[in-house]
Amino acid sequence: MTQDNSPSSAEPIVHMAKVNKSFGDLHVLKDIDLTIQPGEVVVVIGASGSGKSTLIRCINGLEEFQHGHIEVDGNELLPNGRSSRALQRIRTEVGMVFQQFNLFPHLSVLDNVSLAPMKVRGWSRTDAVETAERLLERVGIADQARKYPSQLSGGQQQRVALARALAMEPRLMLFDEPTSALDPEMIGEVLDAMRELAREGMTMVVVTHEMGFAREVADRVVYIHKGEIVEQAAPDVLFDSPQHERTQNFLSRVL
Ligand code: ADP
Ligand code: MG
Repeated sequence: MTQDNSPSSAEPIVHMAKVNKSFGDLHVLKDIDLTIQPGEVVVVIGASGSGKSTLIRCINGLEEFQHGHIEVDGNELLPNGRSSRALQRIRTEVGMVFQQFNLFPHLSVLDNVSLAPMKVRGWSRTDAVETAERLLERVGIADQARKYPSQLSGGQQQRVALARALAMEPRLMLFDEPTSALDPEMIGEVLDAMRELAREGMTMVVVTHEMGFAREVADRVVYIHKGEIVEQAAPDVLFDSPQHERTQNFLSRVL
């Protein structure tokens, strides 16, 4: 029997079906259907308050949802948090980088990166430190390993956060506006590290306002408006010939 390895036939790494999420009376995600294949880079765009953070936080179980279902690498998340074992597995398989770097302030850079593999994966200190050093090298801050987060620039801290997430050998990386809190001159170094990760084949979901990055790196761009996916397409298609008026309006304001 021949095996078909084309992307369309692979098992999706994320499958969201009819996901609905409310905060009290506020209906924040409306019938979200989203499928992501291994190796895909998906950029999520939309106005502030449209539900982008909530969407990606649902994928790693940081937010509960009320209807629909989400499957992440074969682990099923059910509505209203009824999926604790899947949740544990998803948390170890999915890395996340936030707008605020969320590093442990009392730990050195090296300890920030090596802690979780020891605690969660049970690696020896030697293995965890060796991996941490390799990852810090990869994001270009090997020389900062002994420092504390407060001694680093924002761009360096965000690259530590990236190395820390990668140390868990995630199957999927989620990014929630990773450059929004950075001074302009530091945005490039973080985007470069993300671009490199994409090139290596990491599956990534990236919420960002960096349209240049989206155009260059994304396989697919998803536009979300008031909790609904309005349109999704390859970046040149979505940016150059958006089909929906809402997408056109949004892009005319941000491009
Ligand atoms: P975005 O990331 O696109 O800016 P969010 O997903 O953060 O949007 O928020 C979508 C909507 O949900 C907003 O109206 C926001 O105020 C609301 N919201 C987000 N988090 C909470 C929360 N924990 N409690 C109540 N409302 C929330
Ligand atoms: Mg957000």
